[in-house]
Amino acid sequence: MRIGGVLDMSTVDYPGKISSVVFFHGCNFRCPFCYNVSLVEGEDYREVGTKDILGELKKNREFIDAVVMTGGEPTLQPEALEELSRQAKDLKLLVKLDTNGYTPDILRKLLKSGLLDFVSLDIKASPEKYNRLAGINCDLNKIKQSIQIIRNYGVEYELRTTIVPGQNDDPEDIRKICDFIGSSPYVLQQFRPEGGTLGKSLKAEKMDKNKLEKLAEISKERGLKVKIRTEEGGEEVV
Ligand code: SF4
Repeated sequence: MRIGGVLDMSTVDYPGKISSVVFFHGCNFRCPFCYNVSLVEGEDYREVGTKDILGELKKNREFIDAVVMTGGEPTLQPEALEELSRQAKDLKLLVKLDTNGYTPDILRKLLKSGLLDFVSLDIKASPEKYNRLAGINCDLNKIKQSIQIIRNYGVEYELRTTIVPGQNDDPEDIRKICDFIGSSPYVLQQFRPEGGTLGKSLKAEKMDKNKLEKLAEISKERGLKVKIRTEEGGEEVV
């Protein structure tokens, strides 16, 4: 498998749990606001076997509850993802997948095999702006399918949007996103331009926390269970 690295311990990547985080290399999206540039493009990765990662998880086992598969897009390496998830389950670890939702068949297979405990699925923007914020021409049916699959399997999940100033931070954007996702746990994440973004011409500033809270209120008024994630406040229920 190709990975950017492993973070031994994190308190912010799995809600309420301490986790190790595996960063898969490669992505099928090109979100201009992405700040995991080295995980998406270029050759800055390690080729490792799942056993190597398993060794790291075993080393961390007494300190962690869970492992988070993130990226990049983990589902682009489906065999490694499945094998590693299985090995993590054998260690009695919870498994969380972070995904852009564009590979519903892989998601279904993992859920059907009982290998996932939590799924975080990115919603990049309102349907009208999706292509621009995902950086590719998107078939939104795949995203809808993924949302439905997660709901059908009844695991814990969240849909989440990184709110980027000037890109998807208009109240109307949020209303349209809410219409698209229906009733779901929803997280608005603060964009922070750390260390450069994939879209070289993107000139966005850090998203203002007060404005993010106001946007979150709009989602709440629509009946969604809403949280925000910011540098200043961590994760907060709205
Ligand atoms: S932000 Fe977009 S480009 Fe970056 S890893 Fe996630 S889905 Fe891929």
